Amino acid sequence: MPSEHLLQVENVSKRFRVRGKTLHAVENVSFNLDSGKTLGLVGESGSGKSTLGRVALRLLDADGGRVLFQGHDIGRIPKKQLRELRRDMQVIFQDPQASLNPRMTVGAAIEDAYVIHKIGTKSDRQQRVEDLLQRVGLPPSAANAYPHELSGGQLQRVGIARALTLDPKLIVCDEVISALDVSIQMQVIQLLKELQKERNLGYIFISHNLAVVEYISDEIAVLYLGEVVEHAAAEDLFKKPSHPYTQVLLQSILKVPDPQSETTQALMHIKGEIPSPFSPPPGCTFHPRCPFAQDICRTKKPEPRDIGHGHVVSCHFAE
Ligand code: SF4
Repeated sequence: MPSEHLLQVENVSKRFRVRGKTLHAVENVSFNLDSGKTLGLVGESGSGKSTLGRVALRLLDADGGRVLFQGHDIGRIPKKQLRELRRDMQVIFQDPQASLNPRMTVGAAIEDAYVIHKIGTKSDRQQRVEDLLQRVGLPPSAANAYPHELSGGQLQRVGIARALTLDPKLIVCDEVISALDVSIQMQVIQLLKELQKERNLGYIFISHNLAVVEYISDEIAVLYLGEVVEHAAAEDLFKKPSHPYTQVLLQSILKVPDPQSETTQALMHIKGEIPSPFSPPPGCTFHPRCPFAQDICRTKKPEPRDIGHGHVVSCHFAE
């Protein structure tokens, strides 16, 4: 079935059973992503960002809702078809070294996807590897290097090259710059932006670095305890943050010199402990920490509301 969106995430939930208890990792999340666009996912550690990214690629199965990739419900299609679609859906992780075999050269690691999918002759594949390395800003000679011989920034470029091997349409970028020196971060972001333009890629960009999320994203979804509490065009969200949680996160950008710790620092400005994802509070899950909480917030869950131009906020009092 044709779809106008590259990806549609509809009312998706994901829970984990941990020592007999249920952890609510993602609750009833919906969004759409178009080709050539970036959705930024922000929120503190444990907010469900990475779990949501994995469910979007069906690296994890959703417990509720559905995910449509190019109109195909990836939770229901046969495994063979899913394997085919997976070529179009890739992920880049925070630590590329962890996903590389230390005994395999970088060239062999990139070539691997072509071998698995029986693409090209040996010399075709080597040419493709060289082309990809050059495209991500590495010399062809990097193909002969082992992971331990490369810097963090070079390794992340290898991670990007690997994600591009099968010419995907969607890439989940999961904290891809968090482990890099600040001086290298912007180079990697610039490379991702260039590749997006060249290849019309859709990105889900997960990061703690709010300034970078603002720079790269077309839209941003803010997650708190597994729920999207605010979702808007990036410019709107930064101009007019309307959920109290988003407001605290964004205020911190100006105050904190180290962007890596923005979210952690921001949370220090919020009163109270982060509630347990094993037993989220009733009503608005942010109410125990919200300076604006009223009685209704303790009992009634705020529904997502469009406060104008697709700016959606889950707060009883947002306007
Ligand atoms: Fe705060 Fe109430 Fe809004 Fe929740 S619904 S964010 S508790 S004001």
